[in-house]
Amino acid sequence: MTGQPGLRRFLQPPAETSGASPENPGATPAATVPAGPGRPAAPSYGAPAPGPASGQPEETCELCAVPVGPVHGHVADLERSTLSCACRACYLLFTDPGAGRGRYRAVPERYLRDASRPLNATEWAELDVPVGLAFFLRSSRRAQVCGFYPSPAGVTECTLDLEAWARLGRVHPLLLAAEDDVEAVLVSRTDADVECFLVPVDVCYELAGRMRLLWQGFDGGAEARQSIAEFLDSVRARARELAVEP
Ligand SMILES: [Zn+2]
Ligand SMILES: [Zn+2]
Repeated sequence: MTGQPGLRRFLQPPAETSGASPENPGATPAATVPAGPGRPAAPSYGAPAPGPASGQPEETCELCAVPVGPVHGHVADLERSTLSCACRACYLLFTDPGAGRGRYRAVPERYLRDASRPLNATEWAELDVPVGLAFFLRSSRRAQVCGFYPSPAGVTECTLDLEAWARLGRVHPLLLAAEDDVEAVLVSRTDADVECFLVPVDVCYELAGRMRLLWQGFDGGAEARQSIAEFLDSVRARARELAVEP
């Protein structure tokens, strides 16, 4: 199988530049950690994963090497299933879906919610996802929606009921509004309610990176939970209403 959906980058230790085995089914909780499509340290990718939480001193555009500030856009490389930090000029090159012959896509910057058509707890249960916070993204290469949730590995892939997803998508257009590969649907289920957002996929990577650093024990521990709470607050603050298409 080829074409991992995103989030792979934060599934591996950040520092190693070589030597990791491409797939290692025995070494990690293999049932849950999605194995990458090989070549874990993409050689031409220069800098190791720029973990946003690790306070790298100086980031540069991974496409043209000019310095970029701490706030910058990202470009998804669909062949390698990685994200690259991009300066504004490079980012804008790939906002057009036809650019880069489809290999590179700029990660959109929109956050959306759909307050008029909230997901309810029964509908969430139909998806058969075993956790309360998960991302869903559709990989164009796999032609399938995949689920991920925060874990000690950063994120762990989970299965979901794909028929239920399609069915719910007809009632909740937000679920189907995410662009393949570069946007995700974030669902947070609490005792109180179910929240659902469309988010850029790079923020999912960032959360995954933080989880890998902070996760402790069985449930993540206080720091990881706090980080998730802050993440959700920032998503809520940025989310705008899904525009109803004519
Ligand atoms: Zn650039
Ligand atoms: Zn970056």
